[in-house]
Amino acid sequence: MKIGFDLDGVLCDISITELDLLHRHQDKNDLLYYMERKPLLSPYMFMTESDEAFCITSRVRKYHEITTRWMHKYLPGIPVYFLRKDLSYTNPEAVAKDKIRIMKDLGIEVYIDDSYHFIKNMREIEPNIKFIQYGGRIEV
Ligand SMILES: [Mg+2]
Repeated sequence: MKIGFDLDGVLCDISITELDLLHRHQDKNDLLYYMERKPLLSPYMFMTESDEAFCITSRVRKYHEITTRWMHKYLPGIPVYFLRKDLSYTNPEAVAKDKIRIMKDLGIEVYIDDSYHFIKNMREIEPNIKFIQYGGRIEV
């Protein structure tokens, strides 16, 4: 089985407070923020020997390199996929659609995300993939 994982809030921890500050102040510490993320959920806990794991994230282009390095350090062997173009987190439907495009290309059957809104959107768009919410973050 092919299993897809979101990155922020699933494979690595997030700090909503810090992220909000970074966005508000165009902070130059943004790379540091992503570099210092700690692993959260281990994909290996979900996998049998024949399963494959993939990471799909909507992080924008300027964070692709640091994200690839982070994955290589903490989850080597698990490939990371980025959206075709930079999309704002304020446009969850477009993000959901592009994540699903990647899932279909990869043949992913189950996808785990921490965002209630993404899960809700993705379930409406693609009934053939199972979407699981992890973490139960309260969103504002
Ligand atoms: Mg997330």
